[in-house]
Amino acid sequence: MTDSGRAYNFSPGPAVLPEAVLQQAQAELLNLRGLGLSVMEMSHRSVDFIEIAEQAEADVRELLDISDDYAVLFMHGGASMQFSAVPLNLPGKAAYVHTGSWSKKAIEEAGRLTQVEVVASNAPKHTDIVPQSNWQLSEDAAYLHYTTNETIQGVQFNWVPDVQVPLVADMSSDIISRPLPIDRFGVIYAGAQKNIGPAGIALVIVRRDLLGRARPETPALLNWQNIADSKSMYNTPPTFAWYLAGLVFKWVKSEGGLTEMATRNQRKAALLYNCIDQSSFYTSPVQKDCRSLMNIPFTLADDNLDADFLSASKAAGLLNLKGHRNIGGMRASLYNALPFAAVESLVAFMRDFEASRA
Ligand SMILES: *Cc1c(COP(=O)(O)O)cnc(C)c1O
Repeated sequence: MTDSGRAYNFSPGPAVLPEAVLQQAQAELLNLRGLGLSVMEMSHRSVDFIEIAEQAEADVRELLDISDDYAVLFMHGGASMQFSAVPLNLPGKAAYVHTGSWSKKAIEEAGRLTQVEVVASNAPKHTDIVPQSNWQLSEDAAYLHYTTNETIQGVQFNWVPDVQVPLVADMSSDIISRPLPIDRFGVIYAGAQKNIGPAGIALVIVRRDLLGRARPETPALLNWQNIADSKSMYNTPPTFAWYLAGLVFKWVKSEGGLTEMATRNQRKAALLYNCIDQSSFYTSPVQKDCRSLMNIPFTLADDNLDADFLSASKAAGLLNLKGHRNIGGMRASLYNALPFAAVESLVAFMRDFEASRA
């Protein structure tokens, strides 16, 4: 538990937010910076909100080192809306890497709109990543899409594919968890509710030369060029989520930026993987070279103990450890805002549980 009595929250999403951010939002909720109203009650076109919006963009540009060659968009519809936006904005035959549940959904959505080629798949187990030397990528693909971190299976790329076509990445569950070579990407998108803020907004980073290609029937709200031209205010944006994302970007900066986040995330994940690997009671199904630092699925030696594990962990103030309904077992999500002490607490709990039930 934290000093303020909050439990440790291992939720895969919507996920834990930095306590300092929640405190600031609370302090500003009734009366934002002396303006006499809350951020939810002001026009998105007011100078005060535009300042908040522009500051959030400036801060995420600084954090990720995004040059002016890229547009930074704040869009509705979460990451799933971008599953449709990508093929609409980048017409032509599309190439996808299948690594787990989220890339599968992206492939299904693209398949409604265009011809899709799956260049590699780790089905049915989704516990490794097919090396790029075994991908079948056509040179005339409009783009190659991949999912940097499969939130459900806990499979993460620790390398960036090297391709000649625009590279499109769903980074919903590992954006701002580590530094990124932005210029290797054509498009990066992420739903906010894992590492960035509350649900309801998605961050979309598009290399400007890829704007303006959208199919004519593309809905205005999905058209990146339109959203870029209107500074993400074609219609009313999710203002509270945008504001809160801005507070999170400031928090990450004040904590030392992405290099520091990467160091902390490595340490947290290593602690939990070591605990799993040293025990014969807990097992991680994922191949070691692609284990996620953000979402760590694991199973118990006897799944009859799952319910017991979940109720005892909950009673110990360790929340949301239940694995995805399609996978079973447990999953601990260790996003930026989850403190190291939370993982220490989890590991201590796991050792005790093993000693008492094994
Ligand atoms: C959570 C998640 C999504 C879906 O996000 P929504 O904002 O709910 O649409 C897509 N991709 C990945 C990798 C995710 O983790």
